[in-house]
Amino acid sequence: MTPQHSPAHDPRGPFGPQGGPIQVFYMPPEAKRRPTISHAEGVYMWDTEGKRYFDATSGPVVSNIGHGDKAVLAAMAEQAAKVCFASRALFENEPNILLADLVARLAGPGLDRAFVVSGGSEATEAAIKLARQYAVARGEPGRWKVLGRDPGYHGATLGAASVTGDPETDAIFGPVMQVMPRVPAPFTYRLPDNHDADSYARACARALEEVILEEGPETVLAFIMEPVGGLATGALVAPDHYYTAVREICSRHGVLLIFDEVMSGAGRTGTFLAADHWPDARPDMVTLAKGVAAGYTPLGMALAPKEMVDTVVAAGGFLHGHTYCANPLSCAVGHAVLTQVVERDLIGNARHIGALLRQRLLALMADSPVVGDVRGLGLLQAIEIVADKGSKAIFPPERNAIGRIVELGMERGLLLYSRRTAKGRYGEWLMITPPLTLTEAELDEMIELLRDTLAAFAVETGA
Ligand code: PLP
Repeated sequence: MTPQHSPAHDPRGPFGPQGGPIQVFYMPPEAKRRPTISHAEGVYMWDTEGKRYFDATSGPVVSNIGHGDKAVLAAMAEQAAKVCFASRALFENEPNILLADLVARLAGPGLDRAFVVSGGSEATEAAIKLARQYAVARGEPGRWKVLGRDPGYHGATLGAASVTGDPETDAIFGPVMQVMPRVPAPFTYRLPDNHDADSYARACARALEEVILEEGPETVLAFIMEPVGGLATGALVAPDHYYTAVREICSRHGVLLIFDEVMSGAGRTGTFLAADHWPDARPDMVTLAKGVAAGYTPLGMALAPKEMVDTVVAAGGFLHGHTYCANPLSCAVGHAVLTQVVERDLIGNARHIGALLRQRLLALMADSPVVGDVRGLGLLQAIEIVADKGSKAIFPPERNAIGRIVELGMERGLLLYSRRTAKGRYGEWLMITPPLTLTEAELDEMIELLRDTLAAFAVETGA
């Protein structure tokens, strides 16, 4: 088969470290080549040219404890020297038991069993399958629909994509998956006519109940949502009453409430779970990934109540698993990361420094012509980029405003993470999600880099 002609297959280059053509699948075209990572420490990353970058994104909201943590690296080496892999089918392993125990204590009552996987999409799959098996085991086989929010994001695998509210994903992959019903996400900045944030959140909660009734409550298995939004909504936080209403609606109709805390969990919002901000709206299940092992290893998990797991086990066991589920090395690394989070009170720091970050971003918004909104909780914050604050209009898509801001940041040594959801229908934003280890001096440095980046963009656009 002749390889498709692309720079990666061009015999004249680009060339990799050993002088041959680069065969990496995902390598973008030559014009978009990115710097090559060399090493990282704390909030900083260096490329192979020696340039230093401030990691204001934590990778896509992953590196919660910063880079190069010595205690985690030591725990990783210690476990690797003992055993990296042992199949769940043949052995139990201590790191898995210790990790599940620590997470259950941090997550609190009702989330006392952890099914350990390798990432966020796998965690979504596990949660959906466990919920479905639970319904079948309880004699409710008619319940299978999992409602999601539009927009929302729960992963890239087909099961996770089926509950992800993204029209482009549906358009392309719809034929190979079961697209699930969606309800609107309760945005607080861009609002339909005649609504404020409060009334719109009430309307969105009502829409959830309407969809459940339309679909037939006896067919609805679960509702999955990000309690504090990730990339799809730019750190959306709804008014408090929305969470209580959602919980009541789900309980009324026997629908399981799943919080996707892949991005918001593991301390990022200033509590271990973002769910802890709304104790009256406790979810039935939670998914975690990203910060739970903070990029030191691929790790994710689905948390569920003991009663749910016992019911499924009594009915024959959970019909699900991956080769790398609960592998000893990843579990030991996850345990070491969360031990750092606890021992260094990084959750308290996320609360404290997150409040300062928010003040600084609000001050930036007041000064900058292109920042229209600041939203989020703790160290999960986002700023919305607008061409006009009055009308909230975004820049013309061909200008690729957020892409250009990311480039200007890179030039200045600032790493940013951006998103234009549904081709700009909901706006476009930058996530401001530094590691939970952030100090006040580092906050100052990050804000100055951001201010400079946004000012350069404003000058370029004449804003
Ligand atoms: N859920 C949320 C909220 C996410 O932000 C992501 C990833 O960005 C996922 C699920 C999927 O996680 P992963 O990319 O580890 O499969």
